[in-house]
Parts: sequence; structure tokens; C-alpha cells
Amino acid sequence: MKIHFLGTAAAEGFPNVFCRCESCVKARELGGKNIRTRSSAIIDDTIKFDYSPDSYMQALRDNLDYSLIEHMLVTHTHMDHFNALDLECRRIGIAHDLEHPMHIYGNDAVMAHTRSAIGRFEGERYKFHLLRPFETFYAGDAKVTPLLADHDKMETCLLYVVEKGGKKLLYGHDSGWFPEPTWAWLKDQELDCAILDCTHGYTGKSRDRNHMCIETVFEAQREFQANNILKPDGKIVVTHFSHNSKLLYEEFNDIFSPAGIITAYDGLILTI
Ligand SMILES: [Zn+2]
Ligand SMILES: [Zn+2]
Ligand SMILES: [Zn+2]
Repeated sequence: MKIHFLGTAAAEGFPNVFCRCESCVKARELGGKNIRTRSSAIIDDTIKFDYSPDSYMQALRDNLDYSLIEHMLVTHTHMDHFNALDLECRRIGIAHDLEHPMHIYGNDAVMAHTRSAIGRFEGERYKFHLLRPFETFYAGDAKVTPLLADHDKMETCLLYVVEKGGKKLLYGHDSGWFPEPTWAWLKDQELDCAILDCTHGYTGKSRDRNHMCIETVFEAQREFQANNILKPDGKIVVTHFSHNSKLLYEEFNDIFSPAGIITAYDGLILTI
């Protein structure tokens, strides 16, 4: 399974283009892995997580062909994750020589956004699928289970476990410390890879709510080990970084790499 990280910032991007804080100024100066766009990832070029407002630019930057996308698993409707209006560019008359529909999956709020943006084009080019937490389904040959996040009390935000080609991936953000039913589902799953939220820097909270911080990521790693959630050689990858963390790529990498945790950056490709 190829996991391609398209965007690795929190909602405002890193740097935030409106911000003059020390971290944003440094990120602009240093460039490279410090330039982070809004969060998204794609697996095997065909299954995409979310459609951030930067998705168009990310395809150009990394030379991706989005016509290959068959399934889009949407986590929630916050503006950094789901820009449904942009998907109109795939409709008949605008995108040519496409044989397959794009299947869009998500909670009630995602379906409402999707239908208001492109509902009138549903059919040959788009199929919509309402999901409920913990109800497993197949997206082509991938077995997918949506899990409950702890992120926004006004929306049933989802995380995804995708099993494909004998590998298991958890797309685990946006979320704070997982709700108990999610931990119970994850027990003994022996994942090959878990992608976690590390929006904040150090907060002193080992079980942070709504988003994870550095201490919460380490606590999650302990929980993974204690409950056989990750294979012994499984990978943890952290992403969705905010400039309010006050930490740049090298600083996150220095904190996480001794624990075997990978710090994501835009354009990172991992094969599991
Ligand atoms: Zn977000
Ligand atoms: Zn800033
Ligand atoms: Zn969010």
C-alpha cells in the first residue's frame, strides 16, 4: 500500500499566510518540509482521504492524476478537510474520458455539503454513501471501517481503518484522545500503520481533547503497544501540525524519531 501525504498542516496552513509569528516567519525562510498545506492523503492513487482547499494545487505539485480516484473517504466538514464545491470540476462536460464514478463517503454533514455542492450531478460521475461509525463496508477491494473521533461535539467526525492488499491503515485524524468505543474496536487489530493528529506542540495533557498534542501521541503509542493495536514493526506517523505548536519540521522530527514515530511532511510517500 502506497500512502502519499498531500497536506500536513492544521486548518490555517503552516505558515498561515496572514500570520507574522516567529514560527510562520521561520517556516517561510527555511521552506522545504516547513511549508505545509491543508491535510489530505491518498493511497495507491485511487483512495483519497478528504478534499482540502489545497487539493488542486497538491495534484499539480506532486504530478498526480485525480481521474484515478475511485473512492473519497471524508472525515468531517471543517473547511480544511472538505471543499465539496471544487468537485464539480469532475462533472460531465468539464472532465472528459472518465469511465468510473467517484464514490464519496461520509457522515450526515458531509452528505449535506456534498449534495448542496454537486447533488444535481449525482449519477454517472458521483455516487454518495452515508456512513455510520463502526459499520464496515467495501470500497472496491478495500475493506473500510469508519471509527468515531473526538473532534467536534456538533459533528460525528470519522476516522478510517482501510484494509487493502493484506495491509491495514488507520487514518486517525482529526481527533483528540480516541473515544472508548474506538479504542475497544482497535484492540488486537495489528495495524501496519497509524496516522495520528499532532496539531498542538507540548500542552502537558496526556489525553488531549479535540486534537492530539505531543504528550497525547506518546500516550497513544503506549496504548497501541499495550493492546496489540499496531504490529511490532508497524509505523506511527504524525501530521496536521499547527504553527501555534511553535515547532518546525526538524524540531518535531527530533522529538518523535527517537520513539520511532515518523513526522509527516507534504509530499512524503510511505510504502507499507
Ligand atoms: Zn483539520
Ligand atoms: Zn504563525
Ligand atoms: Zn477539524
